Amino acid sequence: MTTDIIYRYKNQVYFNITNKCPCRCTFCIRNTEDAIGEASNLWFEHEPALEEIYKAIDEFDFSDCNEVVFCGYGEPTMALENLIAVSKYIRERYPFRIRLNTNGLSDLIHKRSTAEEICQAVDSISISLNMPDAASYNEVVRPAYGEKSFDAMLKFARDCKQYLDDVRFTVVDVIGEEKVEQSKILAAQNGIPLRVRKYSP
Ligand code: SF4
Repeated sequence: MTTDIIYRYKNQVYFNITNKCPCRCTFCIRNTEDAIGEASNLWFEHEPALEEIYKAIDEFDFSDCNEVVFCGYGEPTMALENLIAVSKYIRERYPFRIRLNTNGLSDLIHKRSTAEEICQAVDSISISLNMPDAASYNEVVRPAYGEKSFDAMLKFARDCKQYLDDVRFTVVDVIGEEKVEQSKILAAQNGIPLRVRKYSP
């Protein structure tokens, strides 16, 4: 079976550029191995090389696409160099907006501040807040970096906001009303809008 580097869901085209991720979220589709949208298989036998991603772009039909989203079966910033190169490749060829869906842990992954270079590569960033406090975040996200992850994720979001207008947090409504309300307060305290997504199994 071939693996989908690029797949479509409605008018958005998703880029699956890595299967790597430093987290083990309890709800992650990586746990169920389901594919999404028109994707048939999102698991790579090997991580895609830049040339393979370029080839997938060249062969993909982008008709009716209005946004490209780095998302996929892993954390896109694990493949930061490729992410930046692919954004450039897209911008040189298409007028699409480019969005990054991220767990916000890029600074911990790369052991340096990464907000500026990421913000130059995309038009909007959606950061998974998941939970409104470090303890419950850790229980659900199970990041490899432990409890410092939550504060690092918040800092990354605030840093991004310095470079890009369209930065938002997301939570899923299944966390419950109380945690959603707490998330709204935390997001406001950090000066970042919160999008509450409906859970879809
Ligand atoms: S951060 Fe994203 S890719 Fe990583 S385990 Fe969580 S949901 Fe899955």
